[in-house]
Amino acid sequence: MDPRGFPTTLSEFTKVFPDDTACRVYLEKMRWPDGFVCPYCGRKGEPYRFPTRPTVVLRCRACKKNTSLTAGTVMHSAHTPLSIWFWGAYLVTTQTPGQSAMQFQRQLGLSRYETAYMILQKLRAGMVRPERDTIGGEHAVEVDEVLIGGKARGAGRGNHHKVYVLGAVEQHVRKAGEDRAATGRFDDYEGGKPLKRPVYAGRLRLQVVPDRKAATCEAFVTSHVTPGSIVKTDGWQGYDNLAETCGFTHDGLAMNADHELTDAHLPLIHLVFSNLKAWILGTHHGVSQNHLQAYCNEYVFRFNRRFYPMTAFNSVLGIAARTMPPTYESLYSGEWTHPTGAKVA
Ligand SMILES: [Zn+2]
Repeated sequence: MDPRGFPTTLSEFTKVFPDDTACRVYLEKMRWPDGFVCPYCGRKGEPYRFPTRPTVVLRCRACKKNTSLTAGTVMHSAHTPLSIWFWGAYLVTTQTPGQSAMQFQRQLGLSRYETAYMILQKLRAGMVRPERDTIGGEHAVEVDEVLIGGKARGAGRGNHHKVYVLGAVEQHVRKAGEDRAATGRFDDYEGGKPLKRPVYAGRLRLQVVPDRKAATCEAFVTSHVTPGSIVKTDGWQGYDNLAETCGFTHDGLAMNADHELTDAHLPLIHLVFSNLKAWILGTHHGVSQNHLQAYCNEYVFRFNRRFYPMTAFNSVLGIAARTMPPTYESLYSGEWTHPTGAKVA
């Protein structure tokens, strides 16, 4: 379970959201943490409920007006049950990424492919918008470029259908004395024991670019990295003027630095690139150049929210972010008893 109380595994998810009622309760809590308030007359208090209705409507006891729980969200005006939307949002925002509509249909047990496709498209729309704010500042930023294989009909081998993607990722340094014992993947050893890296990734930006000329590299860094940040790069000449012309503190390698040295200098962006490639090739079997930016944005969305599953989940469903934890901690703290009577662990 996420420390803020949001499910992070399938089994937790099914306990927290076992049915449509649980989803309805969640939506209601998100919108009115302190109980229903009629948006028409402002009356506070328990509304009328219609458990047999497929649409989720609350009716004010004073003015008798109906309020839809899904208004303003991607779930609005669809006949799909809330639990299906919730499942879908969980699947697209977790780190096991990239569902095809076919896989999605199977996983959600939907009879119609079109429904799966529609849900997937609506949920993905929330992920493919580019992230606008700059990264860096107090954290150094690793910048590098990678060639991603495009897919073109009848294309031969070679680089001519590959596309450059520029990436920038924040390098966060672990605090001195922080427990670095690793359980899963690990990179360092100390006394025969696996250790987490001394640095870990913060926020990420990815952009499809036509080439890796200096003007392109400089424009990318300038638009995505906070002015004055430390920018770490390899020895590629496209980054040569980051300090002089663009005002960054440039920490670049010598032009012919070997692979090992470059990997030590830019561990995080290299990891991002290899995962990005594996995802695009593995899940999507290559992507046409036109769609690559959208896939990059989706990757960035998930990456930047990997520690905030609730934010990612709410965001793709279109649930307003104005109501955030800690108000909801109580919901899943274990003290909250589910409407079905099941205690949430
Ligand atoms: Zn009212």
